[in-house]
Amino acid sequence: MRISEIFYSLQGEGFLAGVPSVFVRLAGCPLRCRWCDTKYAWDEMAGADYSIAEIVRTVQQWLCKFVVITGGEPMINPDLPELTQQLKALHKHITIETFGIAFIPDLACDLMSISPKLSNAAPTDPQLAAIHEDSRLDIAVLRELLDIYNYQLKFVVDSQADLPEIQQTIEKIGNVDLEKVMLMPQANTRDELLAKSSMVTDMCKRTGFAFSPRLQVLLWNNERGT
Ligand code: SF4
Repeated sequence: MRISEIFYSLQGEGFLAGVPSVFVRLAGCPLRCRWCDTKYAWDEMAGADYSIAEIVRTVQQWLCKFVVITGGEPMINPDLPELTQQLKALHKHITIETFGIAFIPDLACDLMSISPKLSNAAPTDPQLAAIHEDSRLDIAVLRELLDIYNYQLKFVVDSQADLPEIQQTIEKIGNVDLEKVMLMPQANTRDELLAKSSMVTDMCKRTGFAFSPRLQVLLWNNERGT
């Protein structure tokens, strides 16, 4: 598998924020979101080749139950089921971070952490923006993921204007457990995060959705490997 990086840190986002976790970042994502904070992992050849056994050995160097498989977009990797099954055999708690590009039924996954992308993530280049608009949201895939896996839905909020689109997306998916929905500020720097947090906090209080922190931005200003 092509691996961008493997590192030990705290989960920064979602309901497990603050939990020490080993991150396995797979290379490759086709989406090109404007504010993506892992652009170095877009290229599917970024990083280095690891066998599954090498990934598992690397993960095992830390005495840590929680493993986060992220990207890039990990759900495009054909070896993902085997990786999750080998990690599960070691009793790891496995989170998969995805935007919901594909449904894979046979993953050993404890938490499917889905961040459906809104129009606020469109790239500035018009051609890329058109591709982004066509590929960012597959409602049928999201529905299947929610039916099979324990999940959280994390929406990235750039401004107040995003709320109607978030609510429409939830309605389109249908039968979403609203207690599993989180809003998190769009921010690549600590200053940006602090500036947007009160707006998102107010939105959470109005809607009842949970606020997701971004500890990797707050604590380490989004430095790579955090
Ligand atoms: S889906 Fe995630 S990894 Fe891919 S471009 Fe968007 S933010 Fe970056």
